[in-house]
Amino acid sequence: MAIATGPFQYLEDKTFSFACHAGLACFNECCRDLKLVLTPYDILRLKKHLGLSSLDFLDRYVDIETGAHNNFPGVFLKMNEEEGRPCPFVTPAGCRVYPDRPGACRTYPIGRGSSKTQGQPATREIFFTVREDHCRGFAEPRSWSVDTWMADQGLVPYNYFNDLWMEIITHKGSLGPETTWTNSVSLFRKPASWSVSRSRPPWKNKFGRTTKPCCV
Ligand code: SF4
Ligand code: SF4
Repeated sequence: MAIATGPFQYLEDKTFSFACHAGLACFNECCRDLKLVLTPYDILRLKKHLGLSSLDFLDRYVDIETGAHNNFPGVFLKMNEEEGRPCPFVTPAGCRVYPDRPGACRTYPIGRGSSKTQGQPATREIFFTVREDHCRGFAEPRSWSVDTWMADQGLVPYNYFNDLWMEIITHKGSLGPETTWTNSVSLFRKPASWSVSRSRPPWKNKFGRTTKPCCV
């Protein structure tokens, strides 16, 4: 059951009804005029999907803004300039990077608040729905739990890597005592930031179990 607080409704029992498909009048309405934050893992997946280098992807598809969060820049998917500011990846048939769409697109219509600090063994999570007026998906009868939604949307590796990133950006000493906005951007642009081990996906446990494969 959701507890209502405006468009954001806390998911007390972590269940909700929702479906998104091309038959809805709102199809593609949500893929424009967004302030869509990208994480390093989002960018890794997208640049591989598009066959671009990390730097070419950043130059073509990303806006970087200075922010007030521990000297880290805000990294956002750049919307097209045309009327309505559509996402560069939306087409009449839907998302053209769907298998590697960003974590925020996968997570909607729920939101996940998480915190993970160094030394904290587990990530703390809260969940809520984001009920935007134009979205007809909430009227659909299919019901979900948070866990079934996360699995269906392929969010296991996204949450794993994004939580590691959060651990870095919320640890004030992570860039050393001379932290500046400039070297924060450098961290984002370093090839090492895009390296993911191929030996064993780290979200698999030592018995090799996992809920979703990943393309890294
Ligand atoms: S990346 Fe895909 S799902 Fe996300 S806003 Fe763009 S078109 Fe929509
Ligand atoms: S149902 Fe919601 S998420 Fe799906 S296309 Fe419509 S507005 Fe977007």
